[in-house]
Amino acid sequence: MSFLIIGAGISGLSLARKLAENNHKVVTIDQKDHIGGNCYDHFDSNGIDIHQYGTHIFHTENQGVWNFLSRFTQWYPYQHEVKALIDGQLVPIPFNFNSIEQLFPQKMAQSFIEALLNEFPFNKKVPILKLRESKNKDLQFLAEYVYEKVFLHYTVKQWGVKPEDLDPLVTGRLPVFVGRDNRYFQAKYQGIPLHGYTGMFEKMLNHPNIEVRLNTPFDKSMLKDFDHCFFTGAIDEFFDYQYGELPYRSLKFDFLTFDRPYFQSNSVVNYPCNYDFTRIGEYKYFLGTQSDSTVVSYEYPEPFVLGKNERYYPIINEENKALYSKYLALAEEQLKVTFLGRLGDYRYYDMDQAVARVLELTKSRGMV
Ligand code: UDP
Repeated sequence: MSFLIIGAGISGLSLARKLAENNHKVVTIDQKDHIGGNCYDHFDSNGIDIHQYGTHIFHTENQGVWNFLSRFTQWYPYQHEVKALIDGQLVPIPFNFNSIEQLFPQKMAQSFIEALLNEFPFNKKVPILKLRESKNKDLQFLAEYVYEKVFLHYTVKQWGVKPEDLDPLVTGRLPVFVGRDNRYFQAKYQGIPLHGYTGMFEKMLNHPNIEVRLNTPFDKSMLKDFDHCFFTGAIDEFFDYQYGELPYRSLKFDFLTFDRPYFQSNSVVNYPCNYDFTRIGEYKYFLGTQSDSTVVSYEYPEPFVLGKNERYYPIINEENKALYSKYLALAEEQLKVTFLGRLGDYRYYDMDQAVARVLELTKSRGMV
């Protein structure tokens, strides 16, 4: 069959490869001048892997996803750690026993750790909104502290609303950790593609059945030339916003180069309570690059405004999910078009979830 894929991000490209391997002809279009969507990266003159749309760290428990991507890249075994500036200290995030001991006097820290261990299993994650429900006095104090210092101001900057006004899954992505593991993710498979995300995608596209057309906006008249179309763009845009716009948050990055080997202690430092940016990413850490200068990005959240900036995050709450389900009903009537990806499904997918969606989709349609 002949397929049109709209969008050359991680969803569209993974799908292109799967279809091509099943002997289908695939044309992938993207309005941007590069492949990779928001995962796009490039190497600067010092060999530093710059993620143009902000820091991207791959992590998954899904062996099928890991095996699929590993056909197109080797991995640098990077394990992500984040620090946050809280009360003048750089402490590990997710908030854990080490963060507690850094921030509180010894006796107080000890009683918080004991209270946590009495209520939750060791080495487990607890969502902040769940910790806030504890009846224990020490844990109530700790929960309010963490809520205020880690979550509240960061979330207001990032989303424009308080944590409790978002789907609990959003803040649940960053738990409180009942243990000493300083890593941001505990997933079995974690890493950065050794030759960058773009390098991995280029290998994925290296197949005679795939053609990529960049700088090519989608037009519905294209549909007639193909047997079926997979749309990874914004679902509300496809339907001409007939029920109104699905809301998104956007980001603005200020990239700065410093003439010194390192700028900060690790790849990502969060600033929940200070400044207008949420975090600073330093790119040389991702592949352990050695160089005399270093590149960082300051990350400023902002509302998504059509025609002005890019969609980054769907704003998942009850109202927006209801609006999405109206578009989903329209999508189900489109027999020639399948929607997928962060913008097509209006889901806050991580990279591995976007690939898992593709693998499930192709499996459900009888392709291996
Ligand atoms: N979050 C927070 N404080 C932090 C880090 C994260 O409140 O220091 C909350 C915030 O609402 C954020 C969400 O947890 O949007 C998910 O964070 P994550 O790092 O997973 O976001 P991403 O890397 O996808 O932007």
